[in-house]
Amino acid sequence: MKVLKFGGTSVANAANIQRVKSIVENTKSDRVFVVVSALGGITDLLMEALNRASKNDKGYAQVLEAIEKRHLETVKALFPPQAQSAILGKVKTDLNALESMVEGALMIGEITPGLSDKVVSHGELLSSFIIAEFLKKDGLDAIFKDSRELIVTDETHGRATVYFNETQKNCKDFFNGTSQKIVVLPGFIAASKSGKITTLGRGGSDYTAAILAGALDAEVLEIWTDVSGMFTANPKLVKQAKCIEHISFEEAMELSHFGAKVLYAPTIQPVLAKAIPIHIKNTFAPEDTGTLISKNQNSGGKTVKGISHVGNITLLSLEGPGMVGIPGISKRFFETLFLENISVVLITQASSEHSICVGISDIDAEKAEKAVNDAFELEISAKRIKPAIVESDLAIIALVGDNMKNHQGLSGKMFSALGKNNVNIRAIAQGASERNISAVIGKEDVKKALNTLHEAFFEEQVKQLNLFIIGVGNVGSRLLQQLQQQKKYLKKELKLNVRVIGLSNSSKMVFDEDGLDLRQWTELLDHGQHADPNLFFKAIKKLNYRNSILVDNTASESVANSYGDFLKESISVVTCNKIACSSDYAHYSKLKQLSKEYNAPFLFETNVGAGLPIIDTLKHLIASGDKVHKIQAVLSGSLNFVFNNFSSDVTFHDIVKKAQEGGYTEPDPKIDLSGIDVMRKILILARESGYQLDIDDIENESFLPEESLRTSSNDEFFASLKRYESHFQNIYQQATSKKCRLKYVAQFEDGKARVGLQHIPEGHDFYNLEGSDNIVLFYTDRYIDQPLIIKGAGAGADVTASGIFADIVRIGNF
Ligand code: ADP
Ligand code: ASP
Ligand code: MG
Repeated sequence: MKVLKFGGTSVANAANIQRVKSIVENTKSDRVFVVVSALGGITDLLMEALNRASKNDKGYAQVLEAIEKRHLETVKALFPPQAQSAILGKVKTDLNALESMVEGALMIGEITPGLSDKVVSHGELLSSFIIAEFLKKDGLDAIFKDSRELIVTDETHGRATVYFNETQKNCKDFFNGTSQKIVVLPGFIAASKSGKITTLGRGGSDYTAAILAGALDAEVLEIWTDVSGMFTANPKLVKQAKCIEHISFEEAMELSHFGAKVLYAPTIQPVLAKAIPIHIKNTFAPEDTGTLISKNQNSGGKTVKGISHVGNITLLSLEGPGMVGIPGISKRFFETLFLENISVVLITQASSEHSICVGISDIDAEKAEKAVNDAFELEISAKRIKPAIVESDLAIIALVGDNMKNHQGLSGKMFSALGKNNVNIRAIAQGASERNISAVIGKEDVKKALNTLHEAFFEEQVKQLNLFIIGVGNVGSRLLQQLQQQKKYLKKELKLNVRVIGLSNSSKMVFDEDGLDLRQWTELLDHGQHADPNLFFKAIKKLNYRNSILVDNTASESVANSYGDFLKESISVVTCNKIACSSDYAHYSKLKQLSKEYNAPFLFETNVGAGLPIIDTLKHLIASGDKVHKIQAVLSGSLNFVFNNFSSDVTFHDIVKKAQEGGYTEPDPKIDLSGIDVMRKILILARESGYQLDIDDIENESFLPEESLRTSSNDEFFASLKRYESHFQNIYQQATSKKCRLKYVAQFEDGKARVGLQHIPEGHDFYNLEGSDNIVLFYTDRYIDQPLIIKGAGAGADVTASGIFADIVRIGNF
């Protein structure tokens, strides 16, 4: 014989019940016991009605109406009109009885556990009756049997304990006394010896089915639900989760104990002793293989089988010097919890015996705190033990696998993955069987932690990077283009899955948790919501993705000022915006420190020399123990472009205009021409070389006339350039008369920096610098006479975008 259990979603409405019928019909077995849950969501509604009534909230009547409507609609859709009245009559009688009970709670203003069980039992009673009638109507050899006549329990309402001997006898007698092929029974409900209605705990229909399977020596227990099996993690939270084909009883028990709701934890016990396999199947995809839970499944080489989590956890700790070496403290502690009927999900104890810490349900927190403080009142008043410490709103996350004990380094890998993603761990426990390692974390981190661990243990090859990009101008749009173009390569060759989750310019912003389709980012952004930097930050924080990166492609001061907020949330920052790194030294070093503290890289390679690997090289020099003494550099692609093209044949004004139009200057070209941009760059190089310098410490001999420097708009600036053409021609003539070329040079030596236009003679490293090229000469302990030289295109949207791209990939390899 087989036992089949159908969960709430599987019997939620008439269409689903039709599916159930076809599954039952096609089951190959001489006898089939079908255990059903209440129609999906009904148990919650029953509890809500009861709660409201007990609080004198008249809204309970509407909830009851909704319950009635669901059932009546289901009956009407399943049965032809002539068959409906008898069924509807019985359903209505039941619902009337239910209403009277709920009104009882309204009158007495409270809910007794016994009343609660009576009320919620209606969910399963109604569903099983309707389904049994439906199967019979279509000529199947089926009958209904009330589980309360078979399963005997104590009188602990809400989660009763089963008396197996009596139950087994009842089941066998019933089985032998009936001949029908199909028996439909309500899950979840049972009765005490004196006939009081009890329930087996939320999700308890699985348990009902297992109790029957165990008692009747079923060949298999099939759990039909709304997912295709037990997954490597909850598929609703981890998109990459995969179905586990085979798993051992013990592993399944651990996973469900730690929250894999697909199987109610106590379900394993009744079938384990007889090694009856459990098959988890999907009512909505019956052809899927599902998960087979059986004895000693070969792990197929897998160490970690699954990851689960349980939310709404409170940590309760007892500590104090009076606990050391005194026998019996733990016993008293656990006895206290036991007597209050509080179940302990996780236990940790410090090796010094200085403290005991347990994880319990949030709902039990208050009761537990009071009970423990009462039990240890004497010790607490004598200050030998501190009052219980209670920390709520936590969650437990657990790695499970039979084979974990044979492998070293799993917990190291687990905790370093969590640490890297800034998941704070409050407590740790490892089962003696070494079948699970569990950690207590904040509930807001659950999704991130699950995905982090899933990535570390099941998708080892591919790392996900989640980008939030601000600025889609010249540089930003090229970056998006490059990301789109390289997506496949990054995944295949570098095992990086780079997704743009959020995108913003100054007027619009758009988010897509699955990653924006970069082929149509302009349309998506156009249809996005109104841009709001504050909301952008809040949204990123709320999404709380691991490997999140803010990419700033703007020259905006306010965006630059927000980096600290991102770093503090462990969100990495990649930027081509120089404002933050050239702001005052305290701010720059604070950002570097936050980056370290929160494990969030802060990368700005493109601040100097666009895509050239200048800062990265500098970092490697310093890391390997070298020391920079002197830097000489031409760092302005814009000024290079200008002076390389300027001659007596063209006007200075036209050349600057051309540079601006070609994207070689900052949006405000005065920032380049005045030398400010170069000052910022040499400042950043000096700082990255380990020197403490501020922008005011840098000497700048500007070649611009005073009037041009004082202009306040681009138009005014360009007009002044026109007016001073002879001034610029003069500068040009002076250089050519000495056979020199004009280069805007930045220097750093002996802790001092300066920038300015210089006459460069033939033969000098800077003489042949073409187009918008940059060059940097580093003189260090190791590069004494011959400097380390980096040279190449130092401006332009494409190379800047590729520099940002490289920083993103660096974080991917971090
Ligand atoms: P039923 O009503 O059929 O008993 P449940 O809602 O109790 O169904 O259990 C199925 C749900 O369990 C799935 O929809 C899924 O959200 C959740 N779940 C949690 N962890 C896992 C897991 N590791 N594998 C599969 N499902 C899981
Ligand atoms: N209906 C009950 C619940 O929702 C039992 C079950 O569905 O397993 O908890
Ligand atoms: Mg369930």
